[in-house]
Amino acid sequence: MGVRERNESAWLLPNDGTRTNHRLRRDMRQFADSDEIDLVIVGCGAGGSVMLQRLARAGWRVAALDAGPFWDPDTDWVSDEAGSHHLYWTDPRVIAGSDPVPMGSNNSGRGVGGSMVHYAGYTPRFHPSDFATNTVDGVGADWPLSYPELRPYYEQIEQELPVAGERWPWGDPHGYPYRPHPVGGNGEVFLRGAGKLGITAKVGPVAIVNGRFGNRPHCIYRGFCLQGCKVNAKASPLITHVPDALAHGAEVRPEAMVTQIAVDKHTGRALGVHYVTGGRERFQRARMVAVAGYSIETPRLLLNSASSRFPEGLCNDFDQVGRYLMVQGAPQTAGRFDAEVRMYKAPPPEVSTEAFYETDPAKDYKRGFSIQTVSPLPITWAEHVAAQGHWGPALREYMSDYVHWSCLGGLCEFLPRPENRVTLAGEKDSYGLPVARFSYSQCDNDRALARAAQSVMEGILHAAGADEVITIQRYAHLVGGARMAEDEQHGVVDRYGRSFAVPNLYITDGSVLPTQGSANPALTIMAVAARTAHHLAAGLS
Ligand SMILES: Cc1cc2nc3c(=O)[nH]c(=O)nc-3n(C[C@H](O)[C@H](O)[C@H](O)COP(=O)(O)OP(=O)(O)OC[C@H]3O[C@@H](n4cnc5c(N)ncnc54)[C@H](O)[C@@H]3O)c2cc1C
Ligand code: SF4
Repeated sequence: MGVRERNESAWLLPNDGTRTNHRLRRDMRQFADSDEIDLVIVGCGAGGSVMLQRLARAGWRVAALDAGPFWDPDTDWVSDEAGSHHLYWTDPRVIAGSDPVPMGSNNSGRGVGGSMVHYAGYTPRFHPSDFATNTVDGVGADWPLSYPELRPYYEQIEQELPVAGERWPWGDPHGYPYRPHPVGGNGEVFLRGAGKLGITAKVGPVAIVNGRFGNRPHCIYRGFCLQGCKVNAKASPLITHVPDALAHGAEVRPEAMVTQIAVDKHTGRALGVHYVTGGRERFQRARMVAVAGYSIETPRLLLNSASSRFPEGLCNDFDQVGRYLMVQGAPQTAGRFDAEVRMYKAPPPEVSTEAFYETDPAKDYKRGFSIQTVSPLPITWAEHVAAQGHWGPALREYMSDYVHWSCLGGLCEFLPRPENRVTLAGEKDSYGLPVARFSYSQCDNDRALARAAQSVMEGILHAAGADEVITIQRYAHLVGGARMAEDEQHGVVDRYGRSFAVPNLYITDGSVLPTQGSANPALTIMAVAARTAHHLAAGLS
């Protein structure tokens, strides 16, 4: 089946220079709270939107409730770092552990499209080994599903975003539907340095239109991908899955914060969700519930949905909810060149290498890392320099030298550990709900990976001709917290995302991932959700 027959979103966007199909939104189906719809989805981001679109196409009566706005790129987004803070989930969260993870712009988004509205746009697949790290390397966990089972869904989503890149030689070697983009100054530095060291680096894979796709125009290479692409060239569910869902009778209910999932204490089945909109408490009935609120908010909602049947939190009889949360170590290395690089004149995602992704038996650590161009804009560049301890005149000097710098980022596969988890804090948010407390500590393997990635990145930039190289330690991405497993003693959901405890409750976001590889997660989250949706639509559950 061609991509347009499967998902017409790109053709449903306007072709007149504006970015939003207002008619589709105006005419959108609207269910009453009292309607027992087939499926209510919590969160309309990467995982939630794919469920919405697939099941609307299958004729289900389905609605997605999102805590944030229904964005219009023309009026809501600006190509400006300082003006883009409203895209992030900035409700209070408590952080703890020996290596706490800062929360804010680098974690999750709020609003229809989810975190992909301000994600960078890298869309690599996981490697086959990621699905069996315990068997292959004796660390992490095995998934209850294998790479070949997910491959067809990877291929579908890559066509729907669509993804551009060179033929990919790592993991399960594969091609992409669109040719690689031309690279800017930062990508050239990476390719030059890697080439000198004999490290294979490739252009892509990015979910940015190269050419024209439906009514979505070609990228204009202005580099504001992390501020929400005003052009509609970078993929996010707002433009890749929501339009088709609306055209097939789905409802998207923005500004609707779900506060609790209700469960019948006699049957143990989910009845629907309590939510707050416009300051009013409401309840949407549904035959099934899917939670897709992101790795922090999904476990938090389950824990906040405790009841007499589930006193420790929904689906938490075996103390699995919130555990095995994973963040990737993301050291960031910058190099200075006499010639101008102007790293802002291209999308931040350009070139990457997965040459260090798999376990190297010669090393004293397991698993690996990937390296990618990151190209911070000036405010993020100032954060990098300030994190090195430069302040005052020195900071000003680095800032006025901005056009001479190139910047690479590592993604290290930090291991899943039960003590890295979300619990509920004593503090409450504006809805009166306990906020998430996220405790995170690294292990020795994690630290060794971050050191190794830093050393390779510094080597690449030196080889490319950098005269000064500076590295800071960061984190990127968050997955896990309600992982899939073979049984309820080791996870929260089964191989199709169905919770072990409540037969009509699904989890369909990044929370279900048992391992994270050193790949960016959005493509895998969407592929896993597409597989769950296919299973449900085919009536197999
Ligand atoms: C700066 C940045 C750069 C990134 N770059 C990349 C990249 O290049 N490649 C990549 O693959 N990934 C990247 N990511 C990560 C990627 O965007 C996320 O992993 C992915 O979007 C997570 O999908 P999800 O479905 O789990 O949650 P999300 O996409 O975050 O969707 C969750 C949605 O649920 C809503 N929600 C939460 N709680 C509730 C509630 N109680 N009631 C109602 N609604 C709720 C939120 O408003 C949100 O819209 C990046 C992330 C950030 C922050
Ligand atoms: S560089 Fe391309 S993908 Fe990124 S914001 Fe600009 S037009 Fe969109």
